[in-house]
Amino acid sequence: MDKYDIRTTRGEEIVDITARVREAVRTAGVADGLAIIFVPHTTAGITINENADPDVKADLLMTLRKAVPDTLSYAHGEGNSPAHVKASLVGSSVTVVIEGGKLQLGTWQGICFCEFDGPRTRHVWVKILATRL
Ligand code: ZN
Repeated sequence: MDKYDIRTTRGEEIVDITARVREAVRTAGVADGLAIIFVPHTTAGITINENADPDVKADLLMTLRKAVPDTLSYAHGEGNSPAHVKASLVGSSVTVVIEGGKLQLGTWQGICFCEFDGPRTRHVWVKILATRL
C-alpha cells in the first residue's frame, strides 16, 4: 500500500491528487484491477469530481458550508462538528477501475482530497488490487 502525505494550507480546501494515484498505478504495474483510495481521517474526505474548472471545487465547498452550518448546537466539545459531518457526507474512500494499466476516469473527473478542518498534514492511502495479471 502506498501512503502519501498532503499538507493542506486552508481551513477548507479540495486538493486534486489524481496525478499521485496515476503514479501509484504506474509503479504497481497492474494492467487490470482496482485502485482503492482511502483517507484515514474523521474531518477530511475524498470524492471524485471535475478537476478542469476550479470553480466546481469552490462551489462544492460553498454548498457543504450552507448544508452544514457552523451555527447549529453541536454537542461535540472539540468544536469541529461541521467538519466531521462534511467528512461523512463526502465519504472516506473511492474505488477506480484500472484497465490497460490506466485509471478509468471520465474526461473531466479527478480524485479530490477534501480538507474540512485544516490546515494540517493529512494522509492518503492507495491500495492497488490486480484482478487479472
Ligand atoms: Zn472533533
